Amino acid sequence: MEATCDRILRDIGNPVPLDVVALLDSQGLRLQVGGPGFPRNIRGLLHLSNTDAVVAVRDDLPEAAQRFTICHEVGHFALVEHRRVLLRQCSEMDLSPAARGQWERAANFMAASLLFRGALDASIGDYELSMASVSRFADHALAGLEASFRRFVERNPRPVWGVVCGVPVVAARGDAHAEVRYTVRSPAAAWTPCPDAVPADQTRAWARPVQAVFGAQAVAWLSRGATMCDLYSTGRAVFVLVH
Ligand SMILES: [Zn+2]
Repeated sequence: MEATCDRILRDIGNPVPLDVVALLDSQGLRLQVGGPGFPRNIRGLLHLSNTDAVVAVRDDLPEAAQRFTICHEVGHFALVEHRRVLLRQCSEMDLSPAARGQWERAANFMAASLLFRGALDASIGDYELSMASVSRFADHALAGLEASFRRFVERNPRPVWGVVCGVPVVAARGDAHAEVRYTVRSPAAAWTPCPDAVPADQTRAWARPVQAVFGAQAVAWLSRGATMCDLYSTGRAVFVLVH
């Protein structure tokens, strides 16, 4: 799948940040933004017929989310087996839930590859390990914070872990925590058990020793050389960069 993305990106001259208009043009895809009757429950869709190929995206998404969604739909189009199914059925909604999960993961993988492959991926080792760096990386890619955070961790040449949590919830005692949605790590980082939730106070961003976030479980992180956590809360999600 990455080879397919590399070929597509080479054909449009490897622009940084990715030029989504050139990307769509190179694939012969037409873009439709919003429009009357656009379903509210989906971010984007790919409509294929024998005469037309359209990527449609919701008009009320932030630019970074629109770009990711467009790349996701181009990902479906660039994957031959996806394209075949879409030409036969009217949409991916007709697939079974299990098949759709697999299908969506493949398109998300393609989207991240299209957004970050090349110079952006190669620059990750030059950033210091902090959430401020992730934010700058996202700005350079014109990508959303979550996609950029995942990429920054998963393609980092150093041992680094990422914990993505949901909305911070204030407990009866007054302290806040955020439930862990998933964790990611770089190839150089060994798997480390993660608690179900992390403490999240009202501040937006802070750096703390791993003990302050993981309590007794910090021993496992310390034994792998991780000593610091960089937390960043958007209000809807909490990101923890462990290094
Ligand atoms: Zn999809």
